Amino acid sequence: MAQQLSDAVGSLSGVGPARQKALAELGINTVADLLTYYPFRYDDLQVKDVNEIADQEKVTLKGTVASEPVLARFGRKKNRLNFRLLIDHDVYMVTFFNQPYLMKQITTGQPIAVYGKWDAKRSSLTGMKIINPNNADEAFGSIYPASKSVRQTTLQKLIKQAYDGYADVITDIVPEPLRVKYRLLSRRQMIHDMHFPASQDASSAARRSATYEEFLLFQMKMQELKQSDATTNGIAIHYDNDRLKAFIKTLPFELTHAQKRVVNEICLDLKSPQHMNRLLQGDVGSGKTIVAAIVMYAAITAGYQAALMAPTEILAEQHANNLAKVFADTDVNVALLTGSTKPAARKTLLAALAAGEINLLIGTHALIQDGVDYANLGLVITDEQHRFGVNQRAAFRQKGGQPDALAMTATPIPRTLAITAYGEMDVSEIDELPAGRQPIQTTWVRSNQANSALSFVRQQINTGSQAYVVTPLIEESETLDVKNAEALSANLQDYFGPTIKVGLLHGRLKPEEKDAVMAAFKAGDIQVLVSTTVIEVGVDVKNATIMMIYDADRFGLAQLHQLRGRVGRGSKASYCILVADPKNQQGIERMQIMTQTTNGFVLAQKDLELRGAGDVLGVKQSGMPVFKVGDPVADLNVLQVAQQDAHAIVQQPDWQDQPAYQALAQYLKVKLAAVGTLD
Ligand code: ADP
Ligand code: MG
Repeated sequence: MAQQLSDAVGSLSGVGPARQKALAELGINTVADLLTYYPFRYDDLQVKDVNEIADQEKVTLKGTVASEPVLARFGRKKNRLNFRLLIDHDVYMVTFFNQPYLMKQITTGQPIAVYGKWDAKRSSLTGMKIINPNNADEAFGSIYPASKSVRQTTLQKLIKQAYDGYADVITDIVPEPLRVKYRLLSRRQMIHDMHFPASQDASSAARRSATYEEFLLFQMKMQELKQSDATTNGIAIHYDNDRLKAFIKTLPFELTHAQKRVVNEICLDLKSPQHMNRLLQGDVGSGKTIVAAIVMYAAITAGYQAALMAPTEILAEQHANNLAKVFADTDVNVALLTGSTKPAARKTLLAALAAGEINLLIGTHALIQDGVDYANLGLVITDEQHRFGVNQRAAFRQKGGQPDALAMTATPIPRTLAITAYGEMDVSEIDELPAGRQPIQTTWVRSNQANSALSFVRQQINTGSQAYVVTPLIEESETLDVKNAEALSANLQDYFGPTIKVGLLHGRLKPEEKDAVMAAFKAGDIQVLVSTTVIEVGVDVKNATIMMIYDADRFGLAQLHQLRGRVGRGSKASYCILVADPKNQQGIERMQIMTQTTNGFVLAQKDLELRGAGDVLGVKQSGMPVFKVGDPVADLNVLQVAQQDAHAIVQQPDWQDQPAYQALAQYLKVKLAAVGTLD
């Protein structure tokens, strides 16, 4: 049978069942998988001049073996192989550790090239491998992500074998017109140069082509999912525009332009029979909740139920309280369902929900549990959606007959990046804060200045304000977090004395206890609220004007920004005090940028630059796809171009049947069948 890239790796020589299994663990099942298992770095094996090498640099030296190699054993299993290398009349010592078998390849008087690490002080080389300097393929050594059971050398050999055996059947996937337009390599050349580049330039050209290919395939998948989403029956929500307008008039403030714009965008989606899958991004305090209320009201006027899911009970309760007020003069029936809803109340609630008597259900994960049945769910909204896994969103959507879905996030990522992180979603943005907001002044102090910061806090409290104090977070242990928070609140109570009341909020408190503390803080009975990060999202106490964060460098910028967003919600000037002793330059930069901007989008961009997409977005949290070659931040322009190209392709009627796109269509058909759905 003819060879195909879809052949199992087992068809390569040297790959038996055990190795096949080990390769499968690396995600390598077929020859195609192996060929696109790209190196994560290259060792520069090009021969260098001794005078141009920096200390500890990895280089290849070429010369003549000037002395018999000597093997010295030490310890139980350790050994060292030494020989002298003659280069242009100078002699250098070369040492290999624990590779005694290299003896055979080292013959006095013979030319040799050794790759290793240069020690400038001793003028010696710690050898890593002996290479054949005449072989151009080895100008760069490709280094692959290996595992315990599949070694680096095994991967290198197998990939070489696969390429040699299958190069002839590697055909192009990226359509010819696009390849020509962007001057991309043929797929065969690209795969060759990814693994065996002859030069730095060849390697970057291959990477450029591979990045485009990867992004185009990703964007094509997104377009196809979008189309299938669009063709499965969504619901057309014919809301009552007059009632909606009247409702908006009852709000205590005028909507910002940005709020009006996104309400319109969402309402258009509601009306359309296509399935809405939209992301609403807006900075902390930009007023997403009221947008949610308006569009939920729209759905309700059309006879549908709406659901709003929040990541924490505190937040869910706050939404329930706020929205109960917002809808007080309407006939909307609002209910709250969380993990701490009592069994009897829950039972009544579920019956009312199934009977369609509840119009708007607010809650936590409890909303998507089994047994929670809606009469006719038309719209689901998830608040702070970055906190939810992709599966939870999917589960929510399955609660009713394809309800429209809106996800809200206050951890904005640049719009352009949003198209990758949430590639299958449309994006709306609130890029403006309500008028009259006081800017929040942020300062960063070292921990030895914390006391003078506290005296400032005392002054502010004496003028009638309230303060949040966030305690350091100890990743490994919730118990330690609690201890820490308890100690800090005791210290602060000592410091402030009896006239100022310090409260404590942490994750171990029972829901009733949390409520009591939050209620006391809202009522102003507590002036200083010490807390672990449970207040991070959403909480709204207008009189709180100080946010003091200990060990601020332990938090991500997005999280700090969220915390800071808890203040500055009223008309008083607000302050954020970061207490931190960052240990490296990156930490210092992060503190500095916090003091320089309060724009969540700018911070998000900076966070991405400083920490990289993987860290910031976290695959688990965001559903962010993992790319093998391309970096969605560094190669953002390529990603955008690929999206436009993918969009243009699927717009063409019967594009699959056009010769230029057949290979692409075929490839996607196989891939999509394997993946199923990405959501
Ligand atoms: P977030 O986007 O962070 O969820 P919220 O929805 O909690 O923000 O809104 C923050 C505060 O701003 C709330 O107190 C809300 O009532 C108020 N608000 C929302 N929109 C406006 C507006 N257009 N004008 C004035 N205040 C507004
Ligand atoms: Mg909010």
